[in-house]
Amino acid sequence: MTVERFIKLKNNRIKYHLKSSPNSRQMRLSVSRRGFFVLTVPPKVDYLTVRRFILSQTDWILERFDALVKINQGKAVRCSRRDYLKNKELARSFITARVEYFARKHRFRYGRISIRNQRTVWGSCSEDGNLNFNYILLKMPKDIADYIIVHELCHLRHFDHGEKFWQTVKEILPGYEGIRQKADEIIFM
Ligand SMILES: [Zn+2]
Repeated sequence: MTVERFIKLKNNRIKYHLKSSPNSRQMRLSVSRRGFFVLTVPPKVDYLTVRRFILSQTDWILERFDALVKINQGKAVRCSRRDYLKNKELARSFITARVEYFARKHRFRYGRISIRNQRTVWGSCSEDGNLNFNYILLKMPKDIADYIIVHELCHLRHFDHGEKFWQTVKEILPGYEGIRQKADEIIFM
């Protein structure tokens, strides 16, 4: 049986799912795949014990809470090796299509496209014109994914982040500054 509960921790109202399980011997706190806290408890645990347990986990919870808020606001992306393997080819076709679109329209010539799963790296461009992209672009808001793709394409012409580089980005995506700011707020989990 699962019920929805709230608890206040250092001024944050935290929602969690209290799950009573006949098989569990001790209390266990986790984060579900859909992004909420789940507290699994043995049957017949009283509220005070539950409360004391949660309070003892305050730091653990608040650390994750910030990240979960970001996920719910579309400001965080989750990635794992399993998810990467599952979505890699889908990401490849999505990213390749967007690269081709911008390359044709703005006459970029590029080499190979590789799809990777590197935490903290969204894209890169090698000196011989090969492009690397993080598969997670597939899950990002489309304007951010486009910005990252255009950013790397522009490195084919300007290898640094100088004035000319940003000028080229702006010609292709006139509203890039706002998108860039949004992109900077996204965190990996
Ligand atoms: Zn760059």
